[in-house]
Amino acid sequence: MSPTRRTILAAAVLAAPSVRAATRGGSVAVVGAGAAGLAAASALRAAGQDVVLVEARDRIGGRAFTDRSLGPDCRFDAGAEYIHWAERNPWAPVARASGVRFAQESGWARTLMIDGRPATDAENASRRAGFSGLDALLAPKGGDTSLAEAAHAGGPNAEGAAAGLSRLSLGEDPERVSAVDYDRLWSGTDLWVDGYGDLVARRFADLPVRLSCPVRAIDWSGKTVRIDTACGTLAVAAAIVTVPVGVLKEGAIRFTPGLPDGTAAALDGLHMGAYTKIGLRLDPAKVDPAALGDAVSVITGGPTVYFEMGPFGRAIAVANLGGDLARDLCRAGEPAAIALATERLGATLGAKAQGAVLAGRLAGWWTDPHARGSYSIVEPGHAEARERLRDPVGGRVFFAGEALAGGGAMTVGGATLDGERAAQEVLKVLGA
Ligand SMILES: Cc1cc2nc3c(=O)[nH]c(=O)nc-3n(C[C@H](O)[C@H](O)[C@H](O)COP(=O)(O)OP(=O)(O)OC[C@H]3O[C@@H](n4cnc5c(N)ncnc54)[C@H](O)[C@@H]3O)c2cc1C
Repeated sequence: MSPTRRTILAAAVLAAPSVRAATRGGSVAVVGAGAAGLAAASALRAAGQDVVLVEARDRIGGRAFTDRSLGPDCRFDAGAEYIHWAERNPWAPVARASGVRFAQESGWARTLMIDGRPATDAENASRRAGFSGLDALLAPKGGDTSLAEAAHAGGPNAEGAAAGLSRLSLGEDPERVSAVDYDRLWSGTDLWVDGYGDLVARRFADLPVRLSCPVRAIDWSGKTVRIDTACGTLAVAAAIVTVPVGVLKEGAIRFTPGLPDGTAAALDGLHMGAYTKIGLRLDPAKVDPAALGDAVSVITGGPTVYFEMGPFGRAIAVANLGGDLARDLCRAGEPAAIALATERLGATLGAKAQGAVLAGRLAGWWTDPHARGSYSIVEPGHAEARERLRDPVGGRVFFAGEALAGGGAMTVGGATLDGERAAQEVLKVLGA
């Protein structure tokens, strides 16, 4: 297709300031306007730097996104919804100051359903037994094993608990998660936010961003870094690349020269989990989802689905699942995902849920071309991968985002802190 007048104009807008600034050796491109890119660009601007922030989607926020497709009264966070480790998370004071509704999570008091019926007392007791002592079992004991291996010593209850925990908090099957990395993740109070995506978007609403402008290639062979985007070429002194590791691993951005061995090895040690949500809009005349409270539905040999029932009083239920079954569901597509979630919800709520689902929405991050998964997972035996990805490429291309956030990995707070870290490193390199 030949370029339209609009794309030519957009290209001109993009190219002009960056090329001009590059002759001063000072401009910076930030790729991706999720929490990391927004925080990086904001910090660079605050330091007086010339910044161009480019984003593939037609919105900012990345994996922090409040979905309104089920109607304004049925919005839900398709991605992040909890401010984890609130004691040190930069988003906790932002949320409190913004007046957004939030609740403090009070542990995992959920109704357990097994094969469509409430769990017996004995089954509930086995589950509790599996979780008690799990922390000590999963703590690394020398080498770096998977969570599945670490839980093995605790017997079937512990293995079952580790699998549930791994799929429903990391979005990945326990065989593929490094116990050393899991042990490093920060913990603390979780604040449940009514619209984390909206909060992120509002906080950075004034930041200039080039939307719908995917980056296709980055050439770091010369003195300036040349960035080929769908709306023009940028020539900059340095770049911060915050796209998810799933996007990097599939080669959506071509690097010239290719990425150095250390960076490639770091990417080999990381992959994306598949935490997946399916929002269901319910008919409030037929069912009050909050009456039962949140529920975990386990199917023998099938998916374990965690239902958030009526979050913040809305007439919705949000099904959460992870691991390979979630991947399969994303590939199967939205109608299949909605059908499964509806069927599981029916089994959980009983006959009264018949015909209560009015519409559904699959937040299928696994098949989303700008995410390629939910968040980064370290493979067993690759515990240094996150740290290694921080090594700048050619001294001028810096990676940033949740995958590099150490104990804050997999979170919006960690991505934000890591974006700020990368901005400081760029300022140092530029001598600003
Ligand atoms: C289902 C789910 C539930 C989650 N729950 C929580 C939670 O409760 N609490 C929490 O803290 N975190 C949670 N997370 C994780 C959290 O959303 C992420 O860790 C965080 O948002 C990542 O921010 P980021 O800036 O590193 O990446 P992203 O937000 O993914 O930002 C990267 C940006 O790069 C853009 N991009 C991709 N390719 C290109 C390209 N070629 N050119 C230009 N731009 C490109 C993307 O569109 C995106 O906007 C959840 C995530 C998911 C998916």
